[in-house]
Amino acid sequence: MAIHQEPLARAESLPSHLTSTEAFRWEGIDVHPYKETGSHFRSISRQILFPGAHDLPVELRYFEIDVDGHSTLERHHHAHLVVIVQGSGEVLIRDRVEAFRPHDVIHLAPMTWHQFRANQGETVGFLCVVNQERDRPQRPTEEDLALLRSVPAVAQFIRP
Ligand code: MN
Repeated sequence: MAIHQEPLARAESLPSHLTSTEAFRWEGIDVHPYKETGSHFRSISRQILFPGAHDLPVELRYFEIDVDGHSTLERHHHAHLVVIVQGSGEVLIRDRVEAFRPHDVIHLAPMTWHQFRANQGETVGFLCVVNQERDRPQRPTEEDLALLRSVPAVAQFIRP
């Protein structure tokens, strides 16, 4: 089931230039909570830099995780394309925990468990491209968690 069903603008009706006001902030772009509800994430904000257009149906978002924060442990049928733009941290990708640093590119294929953590003492910022029409994220069941925890590095890493 799609989250977004609003009619899409034409790309040319959207701003052609977002001016950065300071590092990782842009004129006219609000800083939102990561998600409206839930407690399975920590110290993370979201900015929508491009909302999707009829002829370019993707969103470009910027997420920022404060030191010791993390994104939700989740999976979904849509994919993510992530570019790290500030800070080092670690990410769960399926059944592996991988270190990342600025300029790394991370592709999260459909139905891949993922979670980002700013666990290296640095604020982490990343751009994320996602399909404008997409399914809702799934949270792990107890069974999923048991499977994830069968890998010791994953058991230690995840914040369900
Ligand atoms: Mn996701």
